[in-house]
Amino acid sequence: MKATLDSYQDIIEHLHDGLYFVDRNRVITFWNHAAERISGYKAEEVVGRSCSDNILTHVDADGNQLCLGLCPLAATMDDGSPREADVYMHHKDGHRIPVAVRVSPMTDDQGRITGGIELFNDISNQAANELRVKELERMAYLDPLTRLANRNYITQELTARFQEHERYGVPFGVLFMDIDHFKRFNDTYGHDVGDQVLQLVANTFTTNARPFDLFGRWGGEEFLAVIRNVTPHDLRATGDRMRMLIEHSYLSHERTKLKVTISVGATLVLPDDDQDSLVKRADDLLYRSKADGRNRITMG
Ligand code: GH3
Ligand code: MG
Ligand code: MG
Repeated sequence: MKATLDSYQDIIEHLHDGLYFVDRNRVITFWNHAAERISGYKAEEVVGRSCSDNILTHVDADGNQLCLGLCPLAATMDDGSPREADVYMHHKDGHRIPVAVRVSPMTDDQGRITGGIELFNDISNQAANELRVKELERMAYLDPLTRLANRNYITQELTARFQEHERYGVPFGVLFMDIDHFKRFNDTYGHDVGDQVLQLVANTFTTNARPFDLFGRWGGEEFLAVIRNVTPHDLRATGDRMRMLIEHSYLSHERTKLKVTISVGATLVLPDDDQDSLVKRADDLLYRSKADGRNRITMG
C-alpha cells in the first residue's frame, strides 16, 4: 500500500517529537505541532525566519552558542552525515529546555543537499513536574508567581534531608542563588518585566533539574535548591549548569533581548550542621560570589 502525500503530512504533523525543516540558508520551512508545544513558538511565528534569528539559538552543555559556529544542522548540510546531540533550546517564554536532537540532510532527486531536517525531543521530565506542581498547590506549598516550592516547603525538605543524613549517612548539598543587580533591572524595565524574569529563572530550574532535587523560592529574587545524595563535584556542576543556562537565556522585549545572571553559593552538609548553619554558610558563599564579580559559583 502506498501512503498519500496527505497522510505523510498528517504523520509528521502529529509526531511526538518536534520536527522542522530548513533550507540551505537555514531558513525554517516547516514546523510541526510538537515543535510548537515544546518551544512555545507557533509555526506562523517561525516559518520563513532564519533559525539563528532570535528563535532557536541552541547552546550546548559548555554554553557554546551553536548558531555562531558549531551548528549540527549546518555541519550536516555541509558533509551530508546525520548527527545527534544534546543541546539546550530557547523557549518562547525565555528559559532553556534540554532537548536531544537528530539532524539529517534533505536531498533532491540527484542527491544534492537542499536543506536539513531536525528532530528533537524534550528530555525535561515535564509530566512529572506538572504532577508535583499540583501536589504543592493542594498543600499550599506553591509559590504562585514562579510555580516553585515556597519557603515553607523548602524548610520541610531540609528537615527530611537532615533526618536521612543522620539515619543513613546520605550526603546532600544546597545551592543558594540570587539574581544579580535585580533592583536595577526592575528600575529599568518595570516590576512586571521583573516578574517575567523571575519566571524565566524558575522555569530554567524546573526544566533542567533532576526529578529528585528540589528548587524552591526562598524569597524575593533568592532561590534555594536542595540536592540529594550528591558529591562536591556534582553539586558544583549542577549549580554551574543552572548559572550558565540563565546566562544564555533571554526575554524578547520590544525587539531586544533582556538578560540576567545569577550568583550561587554551594555547600554540602557537615557533621555539626543544623538548617540555620547550613543555609547561613551557603548565603555567605553566595556573598563571596557577589563580591568576586557575580555570575559565578563559590563552593565551600
Ligand atoms: P545583588 O546583585 O547584590 O543581589 O543586587 P540586587 O539589586 O539584586 O539586590 P537587592 O537585594 O538590592 O534587590 C533585590 C531586588 O529584587 C529588589 C526588589 O525590587 C526585587 N524583587 C524582590 N522580589 C520581587 C518580585 O517578586 N518581583 C519583582 N519584579 N522584583 C522583586
Ligand atoms: Mg537578594
Ligand atoms: Mg540580587
